[in-house]
Amino acid sequence: MKSVAEAYKDFPILQREHKGHRLVYLDSGATTQIPNDVINALETHLKQHNGNPHRGAHILAVEASEAYETARDAVQRFINAKTREEIVLTRNTTESLNLIAFSYGLHNLKKGDKIVITIAEHHANLVTWQRVAQTTGATLEYMYLDESGHLKDGEMDKIDSQTKIVSFAHVSNVLGMEFPVEELIKRAHAVGAIAILDGAQSAPHKKIDVQALDCDFFVFSGHKMCASQGIGVMYGKRHLLEDMPPFLLGGDMIEYVQEQSTTYNEVPYKFEAGTPNAHGAVTLKAAIEYLEQYGMDAINAYEKELVSYVLPKLLAIPHVHVLGSEDSSEKHGVIAFMIDDVHPHDVATILDSYGVCIRSGHHCAQPLGAYYNVPASSRLSMYIYTRKEDLDIFLEAVKQVRPTMGFKD
Ligand code: PMP
Repeated sequence: MKSVAEAYKDFPILQREHKGHRLVYLDSGATTQIPNDVINALETHLKQHNGNPHRGAHILAVEASEAYETARDAVQRFINAKTREEIVLTRNTTESLNLIAFSYGLHNLKKGDKIVITIAEHHANLVTWQRVAQTTGATLEYMYLDESGHLKDGEMDKIDSQTKIVSFAHVSNVLGMEFPVEELIKRAHAVGAIAILDGAQSAPHKKIDVQALDCDFFVFSGHKMCASQGIGVMYGKRHLLEDMPPFLLGGDMIEYVQEQSTTYNEVPYKFEAGTPNAHGAVTLKAAIEYLEQYGMDAINAYEKELVSYVLPKLLAIPHVHVLGSEDSSEKHGVIAFMIDDVHPHDVATILDSYGVCIRSGHHCAQPLGAYYNVPASSRLSMYIYTRKEDLDIFLEAVKQVRPTMGFKD
């Protein structure tokens, strides 16, 4: 196995400089950088195998189909799905959640039913359910958190006999924490509801086994795990997929089309209308193979080590506060923080002047910001290529923020 600590050497973008500094990229929760293996895989595909998958008998159509379908196999292996037909390739987590909401949600919910989510959800896993609730007459209910980011006592009891859908982030993109995943899924199933896991911030960072988790749907994005943008995954248990109507209509998702009616292709093709993002699929497969060289458990352990390195040091800087738990063991590689009297956008701009890239804003989780009365924060997020030296540069830059803004202490 290759050592994760050396992985940064695989990423050409990390060689670049910005404002006279070595670039320190700490915004991997937004999107990750791309290693040489993935860049090379795409280049080879574009130079040798580019064609339209599933369309045509010529060599390039056949090779493009093979490339696309072997990406599906790689995803199946990566998350340990029972069958390859349970893997639907989409554009991203957002599209995957929309697919579930519009195809499953609109057809299975009615007035009086409940959808239960947490207050920490990304808008992709929230606005979608607002629409389903508004359209079907179902109600959308939230499970709330305490100050340290844990579900408050009794909140899980909201999953009751009226509940049809329980949907939540496997790892929160703001708090960097996991909810009691097994318990939530168990509770959902105990009342006959389905459980949807938003794996955008988990699949890139830890081993996923959808059969062991027993979630009904699991969704994630390629661009947060070293693949290119515009390729994502929706895993769904086969019997659910079989019963769901298609979401998008057009080429490839059909069996027979007559003037007034159409029969649909089988799963997963029923959900993949139009020319797919085969280029993205090539990068997703290459990214999975790249990550597997290091091993997901090793990647997870490495990131945990980085968190326990940086979090206490960050908290020791005067005027710095962290959202959610301050316990390193509870956080994955995502830390949202505030600096007293300084707007998060100013924090990010000052850090940028040191070559340090972090995110600032509401992180697409406005209801969480409103709930905690913290409308915006700064966020560092790490990945396989993050080094302790990067975190030292980040910490030094954070120390300069208040002095730069003219504060004396
Ligand atoms: N859910 C979570 C938890 C996320 O972190 C993100 C990305 N910030 C999304 C959903 C949406 O991902 P995408 O923009 O790739 O669709």
